Amino acid sequence: MQFYLATSFIFPRSLRLRIFAICFLATHLPLIGYCVWGLSTGRIALFEFVLLTLATVLGTALALFGIGALLDPIHALAAALNPKEEDGAPLPEVGDVIQTLYAGVHRAATATRAQMEDLSIAALEDPLTGIANRRGFLEQVQALPAHQRKGCLAIVDIDFFKQVNDRLGHDEGDRVLCAFADRLSSQIRRADMVARWGGEEFAILFHECIEDEADWTLARLAARMREEPIGTVDGHPITFSAGLCCWNDEDIEAALHSADEALYEAKRSGRDRTCRAASVAGQEVGS
Ligand code: GH3
Ligand code: MG
Ligand code: MG
Repeated sequence: MQFYLATSFIFPRSLRLRIFAICFLATHLPLIGYCVWGLSTGRIALFEFVLLTLATVLGTALALFGIGALLDPIHALAAALNPKEEDGAPLPEVGDVIQTLYAGVHRAATATRAQMEDLSIAALEDPLTGIANRRGFLEQVQALPAHQRKGCLAIVDIDFFKQVNDRLGHDEGDRVLCAFADRLSSQIRRADMVARWGGEEFAILFHECIEDEADWTLARLAARMREEPIGTVDGHPITFSAGLCCWNDEDIEAALHSADEALYEAKRSGRDRTCRAASVAGQEVGS
């Protein structure tokens, strides 16, 4: 690498010419040696001189051809790694083929890294609503420091959502899902977490909250759904039901399961309400 850098002042934009220059010097050494010896001793012979010069020129031509042929695959690789502009014109040359190759590899590595970042974000995000998906939610929760792994978990489900699709169409259903995700995100605190759990179900972690606080927040949300509906079906505002469960760093799946059971209870007892997990309080709170 040092020799490459040290010699880069010779034909800085063409490795082929640089190698040729070095080979040219090397292949002419016998001829130069012969001339120096011949002139200093006066024993130079024209025939030998011409023969040696012709052999050197032939050797130089062979070297030039060989260098070109050996560098061709590298040129092709460099061209493949450096995409063309939209109009088909190649990107400006960065330097000789090694620099172009290096720039191409660097560009490809950067693009791959960016694609991998996009993919890992996509794997954690719900594409419709833009909020976290189930995996993203669980990863965020797992990332909390041990002493902060507590609060309340809620599973929230839009009531009679199938009717939105059936009566107003799937596009309106999608819009309602996005509006609900926005509504949830805007009503929780910065430290809380929200995710689309699947279909028309959402999960919320009310971070370091007691149950009453989480319940109030859900009640406030429910009131807002009536005052400022995100959509209506047959003139009735769209509502939601929720199941709530305390979580204190125990198995999160078990806590979510309890919240889900409480949600089922909320649905069973009439919808548009929040129920607390039986294991915690066994009480129902109308929202
Ligand atoms: P409940 O009050 O008991 O929750 O009734 P529901 O109608 O809300 O629940 P149900 O499980 O019967 O229907 C949920 C519907 O949500 C069915 C499914 O087609 C729809 N759904 C799920 N994901 C999407 C989505 O991404 N977009 C739209 N538009 N609809 C969805
Ligand atoms: Mg539902
Ligand atoms: Mg559901």
